[in-house]
Amino acid sequence: MTTPVCPFVKASRPDDVPSKKQGECPFKHGAEQDGKTKKDASGDSTVPAKCPYGYDSETFKIGPLSCVICQALLFDCTKCVPCSHIFCKACISRFNDCPLCGADIEKIEADTNLQSMVDRFIDGHARIKRSPVNLDDKEEAGENREVIYGDVSMERGAFLVQQAMRAFRAQNVESAKSRLMLCAEDIRGQIETTGNTSELCSQLGAVLGMLGDCCRAIGDSGSAVSYFEESVEFLSKLPVDDTEISHTLSVSLNKIGDLKYYDGDLEAAKSYYIRSLDVRRDAIKQHPDVPSQSLDVAVSLAKVADVDRNIGNENAALDRFQEAIKLLDSLTLKSEETGLQQRRLSVLEFLKNQLNEKQSD
Ligand SMILES: [Zn+2]
Ligand SMILES: [Zn+2]
Repeated sequence: MTTPVCPFVKASRPDDVPSKKQGECPFKHGAEQDGKTKKDASGDSTVPAKCPYGYDSETFKIGPLSCVICQALLFDCTKCVPCSHIFCKACISRFNDCPLCGADIEKIEADTNLQSMVDRFIDGHARIKRSPVNLDDKEEAGENREVIYGDVSMERGAFLVQQAMRAFRAQNVESAKSRLMLCAEDIRGQIETTGNTSELCSQLGAVLGMLGDCCRAIGDSGSAVSYFEESVEFLSKLPVDDTEISHTLSVSLNKIGDLKYYDGDLEAAKSYYIRSLDVRRDAIKQHPDVPSQSLDVAVSLAKVADVDRNIGNENAALDRFQEAIKLLDSLTLKSEETGLQQRRLSVLEFLKNQLNEKQSD
């Protein structure tokens, strides 16, 4: 799968460094502070990363509430007998010996007390938002100026997504799902009070897409399709001029197409691939100078062509394969764009093989 993009990158605080690269690790929220106390223009001290448990974006530590296997907060806390070491159930179930002490695991048992502590921690964590500092108060406070704990203002959503991504990478999908569902619930709640702002829609669209990925990973393609559909619904409410949002939207559409494809419903697959292609063509019209978008269009053309070929529309398939090749041939990349260049070459090779396949028939 593609690297999930933290949907909260967009929600960066006003003092964040404005240009976060796509796909950048969400653990870098607040990283602009460089681990040192810095003074801003008004002379306030901003102290980075001060969660008393060490659960903050920069200095995330594996503490008593986390699992050393997935490195996320414990989910389904499970104690090994006899050594009493604790892990997530899904994580420790893959081991015969305790990864911490090496003891044989005779059996495992649920630790519901510790789990409820983890749940309470998640519930309370990172809810404190940085409040705007009132200038007059500050003058009066003099030397005892309020210290702003920058990282504690990290929103719960960003925190939950971090935890979910860790768990997902460690294949603890149920843990990831549970954090993401909580996160989606939070955003829905916010939408209810503030309405459909584009920031909330893009966050919810991304979180729902990640939930779709989780369901797909555990083979629940029915739920995966529903989550991707809902993701598409929210992302479609957004203006089309944002390249990142168009990309996420088109990826969600393709993922639904893929699930339909593997399910054998080629007509349905094609309709989603075409919607994705349309989104990508629109994106090129908006930003003709972003080479990754041309690649996206070429990939979409290949997907539609592949379905066309499989349902017997050979001529339509050939047209689309050729269009994709033309597009990639005309693409000029800068020498430093080596990743894109590699992708371009591998897509080109695939497309040319598709054309040859026909000719050798
Ligand atoms: Zn774990
Ligand atoms: Zn142990």
